[in-house]
Amino acid sequence: MPAVIAENDVSIWNDECGAVYHYPKRYSAILTPGTRVIYYKGKLTDKAFSDQRLSPVPHYFGVAKIGKVYADVKSSKGDLFALIEDFQPFEWAVIAKEGDSYLEPIPPSRASNYWRSGVREIGETTFEEILSRAKLKTFQVSESQGIADSQDFHSRVEGSATSYYGVRYERDPKLRLQAIAIHGVACMGCGFDFESAYGEYARGYVHVHHVLPISEFGGSKSVNPESDLMVLCANCHAVIHRKRDRTLSIEELKRMIRGRWVFEGE
Ligand SMILES: [Zn+2]
Ligand SMILES: [Zn+2]
Repeated sequence: MPAVIAENDVSIWNDECGAVYHYPKRYSAILTPGTRVIYYKGKLTDKAFSDQRLSPVPHYFGVAKIGKVYADVKSSKGDLFALIEDFQPFEWAVIAKEGDSYLEPIPPSRASNYWRSGVREIGETTFEEILSRAKLKTFQVSESQGIADSQDFHSRVEGSATSYYGVRYERDPKLRLQAIAIHGVACMGCGFDFESAYGEYARGYVHVHHVLPISEFGGSKSVNPESDLMVLCANCHAVIHRKRDRTLSIEELKRMIRGRWVFEGE
Protein backbone atom coordinates (compact mmCIF):
# COMPACT_ATOMS: atom_id res chain seq x y z
CA MET A 1 0.00 0.00 0.00
CA PRO A 2 1.31 3.48 -0.78
CA ALA A 3 2.45 5.65 2.12
CA VAL A 4 3.21 9.21 3.09
CA ILE A 5 6.63 9.94 4.56
CA ALA A 6 7.18 13.12 6.52
CA GLU A 7 10.31 15.17 6.17
CA ASN A 8 11.18 17.58 8.95
CA ASP A 9 12.89 20.89 8.38
CA VAL A 10 15.25 20.00 11.18
CA SER A 11 16.16 16.36 11.44
CA ILE A 12 18.72 14.49 13.45
CA TRP A 13 19.17 12.21 10.47
CA ASN A 14 20.39 14.67 7.92
CA ASP A 15 18.19 12.87 5.47
CA GLU A 16 18.53 14.12 2.01
CA CYS A 17 15.28 14.40 0.20
CA GLY A 18 15.10 11.98 -2.69
CA ALA A 19 18.18 10.00 -1.62
CA VAL A 20 17.86 8.43 1.82
CA TYR A 21 15.05 8.18 4.39
CA HIS A 22 15.59 7.12 8.01
CA TYR A 23 12.74 5.84 10.13
CA PRO A 24 11.99 4.07 13.41
CA LYS A 25 11.53 0.33 13.25
CA ARG A 26 7.80 0.54 14.04
CA TYR A 27 7.32 1.61 10.42
CA SER A 28 9.26 -1.30 8.97
CA ALA A 29 6.14 -3.15 7.83
CA ILE A 30 4.95 -0.08 5.91
CA LEU A 31 8.15 0.95 4.15
CA THR A 32 9.23 -2.11 2.23
CA PRO A 33 11.14 -2.09 -1.06
CA GLY A 34 8.89 -1.05 -3.92
CA THR A 35 6.43 0.92 -1.77
CA ARG A 36 5.33 4.12 -3.50
CA VAL A 37 5.61 7.10 -1.21
CA ILE A 38 4.58 10.73 -1.15
CA TYR A 39 6.76 13.22 0.67
CA TYR A 40 5.02 15.42 3.24
CA LYS A 41 6.04 18.41 5.31
CA GLY A 42 4.19 19.65 8.38
CA LYS A 43 3.61 23.25 9.36
CA LEU A 44 6.54 25.64 9.22
CA THR A 45 7.85 26.22 12.73
CA ASP A 46 11.12 28.01 12.05
CA LYS A 47 11.08 30.85 9.54
CA ALA A 48 14.71 30.18 8.67
CA PHE A 49 13.45 27.32 6.51
CA SER A 50 10.85 29.30 4.56
CA ASP A 51 12.79 29.39 1.33
CA GLN A 52 13.55 25.67 1.39
CA ARG A 53 9.86 24.77 1.26
CA LEU A 54 7.10 25.10 -1.25
CA SER A 55 4.62 26.28 1.40
CA PRO A 56 4.52 27.22 5.10
CA VAL A 57 1.42 25.08 5.71
CA PRO A 58 1.31 21.25 5.75
CA HIS A 59 1.71 19.97 2.23
CA TYR A 60 2.95 17.23 -0.09
CA PHE A 61 5.89 17.98 -2.30
CA GLY A 62 7.12 14.89 -4.13
CA VAL A 63 6.66 11.26 -5.05
CA ALA A 64 9.18 8.40 -4.97
CA LYS A 65 9.66 4.71 -4.42
CA ILE A 66 11.31 2.89 -1.52
CA GLY A 67 14.45 1.07 -2.60
CA LYS A 68 16.65 -1.23 -0.59
CA VAL A 69 16.20 -1.05 3.19
CA TYR A 70 19.13 -1.20 5.62
CA ALA A 71 19.52 -1.43 9.38
CA ASP A 72 21.06 1.77 10.71
CA VAL A 73 24.16 0.51 12.48
CA LYS A 74 24.49 3.79 14.36
CA SER A 75 21.11 3.33 15.98
CA SER A 76 20.70 1.51 19.27
CA LYS A 77 16.94 1.42 18.80
CA GLY A 78 16.85 -0.65 15.64
CA ASP A 79 16.13 2.26 13.31
CA LEU A 80 16.25 1.65 9.59
CA PHE A 81 16.90 3.62 6.48
CA ALA A 82 15.79 3.17 2.91
CA LEU A 83 17.34 4.28 -0.32
CA ILE A 84 14.89 6.46 -2.21
CA GLU A 85 14.36 5.79 -5.90
CA ASP A 86 12.74 7.72 -8.72
CA PHE A 87 12.16 10.86 -6.67
CA GLN A 88 10.14 13.45 -8.51
CA PRO A 89 9.49 16.73 -6.75
CA PHE A 90 6.22 18.55 -7.36
CA GLU A 91 6.18 21.82 -9.23
CA TRP A 92 4.00 23.32 -6.49
CA ALA A 93 2.84 22.32 -3.00
CA VAL A 94 -0.23 20.12 -2.75
CA ILE A 95 -1.84 21.49 0.40
CA ALA A 96 -2.85 18.81 2.89
CA LYS A 97 -6.04 20.49 4.07
CA GLU A 98 -8.82 21.88 1.96
CA GLY A 99 -11.43 23.84 3.84
CA ASP A 100 -12.22 21.57 6.74
CA SER A 101 -11.14 18.33 5.21
CA TYR A 102 -7.83 16.63 4.74
CA LEU A 103 -6.69 14.82 1.64
CA GLU A 104 -5.60 11.97 3.93
CA PRO A 105 -8.65 10.32 5.49
CA ILE A 106 -8.04 10.04 9.23
CA PRO A 107 -9.33 6.86 10.89
CA PRO A 108 -11.52 7.87 13.88
CA SER A 109 -9.43 5.68 16.17
CA ARG A 110 -6.38 7.78 15.41
CA ALA A 111 -8.01 11.20 15.33
CA SER A 112 -6.04 12.50 18.28
CA ASN A 113 -2.56 11.54 17.13
CA TYR A 114 -2.73 10.84 13.43
CA TRP A 115 -0.37 13.63 12.38
CA ARG A 116 2.27 12.58 14.84
CA SER A 117 3.14 9.58 12.72
CA GLY A 118 5.94 10.37 10.33
CA VAL A 119 5.03 7.42 8.13
CA ARG A 120 1.39 6.80 7.26
CA GLU A 121 -0.21 4.27 4.98
CA ILE A 122 -2.63 5.81 2.53
CA GLY A 123 -4.94 3.98 0.20
CA GLU A 124 -4.50 3.83 -3.52
CA THR A 125 -7.29 6.39 -3.95
CA THR A 126 -5.63 8.96 -1.69
CA PHE A 127 -2.31 8.39 -3.40
CA GLU A 128 -3.85 9.04 -6.79
CA GLU A 129 -5.83 11.99 -5.44
CA ILE A 130 -2.68 13.73 -4.21
CA LEU A 131 -0.86 13.03 -7.46
CA SER A 132 -3.75 14.35 -9.51
CA ARG A 133 -3.27 17.74 -7.88
CA ALA A 134 0.45 17.79 -8.47
CA LYS A 135 2.58 18.56 -11.43
CA LEU A 136 5.74 16.51 -11.50
CA LYS A 137 9.02 18.17 -12.06
CA THR A 138 11.57 15.94 -13.70
CA PHE A 139 14.35 15.50 -11.23
CA GLN A 140 17.74 16.13 -12.67
CA VAL A 141 21.05 16.06 -10.96
CA SER A 142 23.15 18.73 -12.51
CA GLU A 143 26.91 18.46 -12.37
CA SER A 144 27.13 21.91 -10.92
CA GLN A 145 24.75 21.03 -8.14
CA GLY A 146 28.03 20.50 -6.62
CA ILE A 147 29.43 18.87 -3.82
CA ALA A 148 31.02 20.94 -1.20
CA ASP A 149 33.42 18.05 -0.92
CA SER A 150 35.17 18.85 -4.11
CA GLN A 151 37.05 15.87 -5.37
CA ASP A 152 38.97 16.06 -8.55
CA PHE A 153 40.69 12.73 -8.48
CA HIS A 154 40.00 10.28 -11.20
CA SER A 155 41.99 8.17 -13.54
CA ARG A 156 41.07 8.88 -17.07
CA VAL A 157 41.75 8.05 -20.57
CA GLU A 158 40.64 11.14 -22.42
CA GLY A 159 37.07 10.89 -23.57
CA SER A 160 36.63 7.34 -22.36
CA ALA A 161 33.62 5.90 -20.64
CA THR A 162 35.83 5.45 -17.60
CA SER A 163 36.32 9.09 -17.03
CA TYR A 164 32.79 10.00 -17.90
CA TYR A 165 30.96 7.51 -15.73
CA GLY A 166 33.48 7.37 -12.92
CA VAL A 167 33.44 11.10 -12.34
CA ARG A 168 29.74 11.39 -12.83
CA TYR A 169 28.96 8.75 -10.26
CA GLU A 170 31.48 9.98 -7.75
CA ARG A 171 29.92 13.43 -7.91
CA ASP A 172 26.26 12.52 -8.12
CA PRO A 173 24.85 14.02 -4.91
CA LYS A 174 22.19 11.35 -4.51
CA LEU A 175 24.58 8.42 -4.96
CA ARG A 176 27.06 10.08 -2.61
CA LEU A 177 24.47 10.35 0.14
CA GLN A 178 23.37 6.78 -0.36
CA ALA A 179 26.96 5.51 -0.29
CA ILE A 180 27.67 7.43 2.91
CA ALA A 181 24.46 6.17 4.54
CA ILE A 182 25.48 2.60 3.74
CA HIS A 183 29.24 2.71 4.27
CA GLY A 184 29.62 5.43 6.88
CA VAL A 185 32.36 8.06 6.73
CA ALA A 186 35.46 6.13 7.82
CA CYS A 187 37.87 5.47 4.94
CA MET A 188 37.45 1.91 3.67
CA GLY A 189 41.11 1.85 2.73
CA CYS A 190 42.87 3.00 5.88
CA GLY A 191 40.13 3.71 8.42
CA PHE A 192 40.83 7.44 8.59
CA ASP A 193 37.94 9.49 9.91
CA PHE A 194 37.95 13.20 9.19
CA GLU A 195 36.00 14.15 12.26
CA SER A 196 38.27 12.25 14.64
CA ALA A 197 41.29 13.91 13.09
CA TYR A 198 40.00 17.45 12.53
CA GLY A 199 37.01 17.70 14.81
CA GLU A 200 33.50 18.93 14.28
CA TYR A 201 34.35 21.12 11.28
CA ALA A 202 35.20 18.07 9.18
CA ARG A 203 32.30 15.92 10.29
CA GLY A 204 30.79 13.95 7.44
CA TYR A 205 33.55 14.76 4.98
CA VAL A 206 34.67 11.87 2.86
CA HIS A 207 35.27 11.09 -0.79
CA VAL A 208 33.09 8.66 -2.68
CA HIS A 209 34.84 6.36 -5.10
CA HIS A 210 33.28 4.41 -7.93
CA VAL A 211 34.76 0.91 -7.96
CA LEU A 212 33.15 -0.92 -10.82
CA PRO A 213 35.96 -1.75 -13.25
CA ILE A 214 35.18 -0.20 -16.55
CA SER A 215 35.86 -3.41 -18.43
CA GLU A 216 32.75 -4.83 -16.82
CA PHE A 217 30.84 -1.71 -17.46
CA GLY A 218 28.66 -2.12 -20.50
CA GLY A 219 27.26 1.31 -21.08
CA SER A 220 24.47 2.60 -18.96
CA LYS A 221 23.99 0.44 -15.94
CA SER A 222 22.43 1.60 -12.75
CA VAL A 223 24.88 2.07 -9.93
CA ASN A 224 24.46 0.06 -6.77
CA PRO A 225 25.76 2.31 -3.99
CA GLU A 226 26.43 -0.70 -1.78
CA SER A 227 28.65 -2.65 -4.16
CA ASP A 228 29.79 -0.11 -6.76
CA LEU A 229 30.71 2.78 -4.49
CA MET A 230 32.97 3.08 -1.49
CA VAL A 231 34.08 5.85 0.81
CA LEU A 232 37.73 6.84 0.92
CA CYS A 233 39.77 9.55 2.60
CA ALA A 234 41.33 12.12 0.30
CA ASN A 235 44.76 10.48 0.51
CA CYS A 236 43.62 6.98 -0.35
CA HIS A 237 41.44 8.36 -3.12
CA ALA A 238 44.33 10.27 -4.62
CA VAL A 239 46.56 7.21 -4.54
CA ILE A 240 43.92 4.90 -6.01
CA HIS A 241 43.70 7.22 -9.03
CA ARG A 242 47.34 8.21 -9.16
CA LYS A 243 47.99 6.57 -12.54
CA ARG A 244 45.83 8.08 -15.16
CA ASP A 245 45.27 4.87 -17.06
CA ARG A 246 44.68 2.54 -14.15
CA THR A 247 42.58 2.61 -11.03
CA LEU A 248 43.78 0.47 -8.14
CA SER A 249 41.47 -1.98 -6.46
CA ILE A 250 40.78 -1.58 -2.78
CA GLU A 251 42.79 -4.74 -2.08
CA GLU A 252 45.81 -3.30 -3.88
CA LEU A 253 45.46 -0.10 -1.93
CA LYS A 254 45.26 -1.92 1.37
CA ARG A 255 48.32 -3.99 0.58
CA MET A 256 50.21 -0.79 -0.21
CA ILE A 257 49.26 0.73 3.10
CA ARG A 258 50.69 -2.24 4.88
CA GLY A 259 53.88 -1.74 2.87
CA ARG A 260 53.72 -5.08 1.13
CA TRP A 261 52.52 -3.94 -2.21
CA VAL A 262 54.74 -4.30 -5.24
CA PHE A 263 53.60 -2.73 -8.46
CA GLU A 264 54.38 -4.98 -11.41
CA GLY A 265 56.93 -3.48 -13.70
CA GLU A 266 58.15 -0.86 -11.32
ZN1 LIG B 1 42.28 6.33 3.64
ZN1 LIG C 1 37.52 7.47 -7.37
